Parts: sequence; C-alpha cells; structure tokens
Amino acid sequence: MLTDYHLHLRPDGGDSTVAQYHTRANFERYRVAADQRGIAELGVSEHVYRFAQALDVWRHPFWETFAHDDLDEYCEFVREHTDLRLGIEADFVPGAEDRMANLLEARDFDYVVGSVHFMRDGAVDMDEYSVWDSRSASVEEVWKRYFQAIGEAARSGLFDIAAHPDLVKYWGPPTGAHPERTPTGDLRRYYEPAVEGIAEGGIAVELSTAGLRKPAGELYPARAFLEMCVDAGVPVALSSDAHRPEDVGADYERALEELDAVGVRELCVFEGRQRRLEPIGSSDRASEPSAASSDASAR
Ligand SMILES: [Zn+2]
Ligand SMILES: [Zn+2]
Repeated sequence: MLTDYHLHLRPDGGDSTVAQYHTRANFERYRVAADQRGIAELGVSEHVYRFAQALDVWRHPFWETFAHDDLDEYCEFVREHTDLRLGIEADFVPGAEDRMANLLEARDFDYVVGSVHFMRDGAVDMDEYSVWDSRSASVEEVWKRYFQAIGEAARSGLFDIAAHPDLVKYWGPPTGAHPERTPTGDLRRYYEPAVEGIAEGGIAVELSTAGLRKPAGELYPARAFLEMCVDAGVPVALSSDAHRPEDVGADYERALEELDAVGVRELCVFEGRQRRLEPIGSSDRASEPSAASSDASAR
C-alpha cells in the first residue's frame, strides 16, 4: 500500500474558494493523479485555520484573515462526495489544547495531522509574521523551541501524525539564501525532545516530500531525525502535502528510497482515528483493484 494523507484540495491563500475547489470534479483530479502513481489510500487534510470554527481556538491575525469556511460543510463534502479519508491539518496552539480538542472531537475524522507552523505569534515558514524577523531570539533558540513544541504537540493527545516535523529548516541549508536561519553542525542535538515526544505520545511521524519543493530542498524530516524515530519504534505516515493534483505522490521514488534506507517496510493507514500498518507497495487499480504489490521498486 502507498498512502497520501496530507493533501489539500486547494492552494493556500484567499483566492481559493470552497466553491471552486471542494467539488467532485476537483477531487477526481486528485484520484486520477493518485491512480497514475499507484497510491491507493488517499486522505484530505485541509488547514484548520480555513474554517470559521478555528477562531474559537485561536485568534491569530493570519487565522482571522482566512477562517471563512464551515468545518462541518467540509466534513460533509468529503464524506458524501468523495471516497477520501477525512482528515484535517491542525496547528498546535499551546494553551488552547482543550479548545482544539473540542473542535476535533466533535467531528468524525479518520486522522488528525498535527503541525507546528507558529511559535507564539511568529511563523517559521512564512514571510508574514515571520519568527525570523524577531531579534530577540537566536537561530539556536528558535530551533530549540521548535523541536520542543513538536514534542509537546505529540504528547498533547490531539494528533495522530506529526506533520513535517523539521519544518523549521524550511529556508534551506547554511549554504542557501538564508544561512542565518539554520544552525551549523550536527542537528541531532535539536531533534531529541521532538522524537521523545512523538515516541511517548504514540503517534506517527510524517515523511513528507513537500520539503523537496521548498527552499529546504530535502525531505521532511532529515535522515537523522527519521532514523531516530525508527530507533524509537515510531511508525511512519507517507504524504506529499500536495495543494494541487500535480503534486499528489510527488517525489515518492525519493521517499521510498529513504524509507528503504532506514529499514521501514510498513506505512500507517488510518480509519476512525485507529491506526494499522500495511506493507509498502504501489497498487495497480486499473488492472487489479485490490492488489497491493509488496515490491516498492515496481512503481
Ligand atoms: Zn503544514
Ligand atoms: Zn499541509
């Protein structure tokens, strides 16, 4: 089985309306792209901050800008007009755990992708509200706090999957355009609290190909982070974080090589917030709907 759980049916930003993108025709474009890439198991996880109900959890100005749509209409659309697993990408907002739990538990999600984009009010991966503009914190402090937040998020009980767990590297390596945003040396010293939290929280770690499409130019997470997770017995969820059909399963060859290199042979599959493991392998839905090859290289 191959999965793509961290999918968005629309691009980020205010122009992408539900009327345009939460349609049967748009869903079918994702399904066709997935079929072409041998991905049998698909789920959608729109950003929680696109929904009006998120403002009961947090009132960051970025959320206030985008929180227009109705969360229950989204759930209904996915259940009634698609065969996607129903997920959501929810931010970890320290101090608002109870309010986020209320929002999540009131809906029948198959899984919740937990992410850390903000540290207090500063975003790690946007120019707007950028955490990097603050002169009060050094790069070491930002990185240290980032991975602590991942650990806390994982322990919160709110989430099933730790999304893009080293997103803080978004701006690229010390040789890139923003050398001041990445510490030098062995980065494992930062990863420990995050990996510990993920292991203790009993959730899955996401292997995401999105980092390859960003200035970071590598998978999320880095090899060393993934190895630490594997050593701690943490299962893996595979996703592209696509925001358009073309990116469904993007760079999965690269991801599958990575999983093979660290000895991961199974992927997480979710339903009703229950997790099970399935052997890695692409499917050929066209010829044999239920067959799942165990040979990843056949893709
Ligand atoms: Zn994200
Ligand atoms: Zn996402």
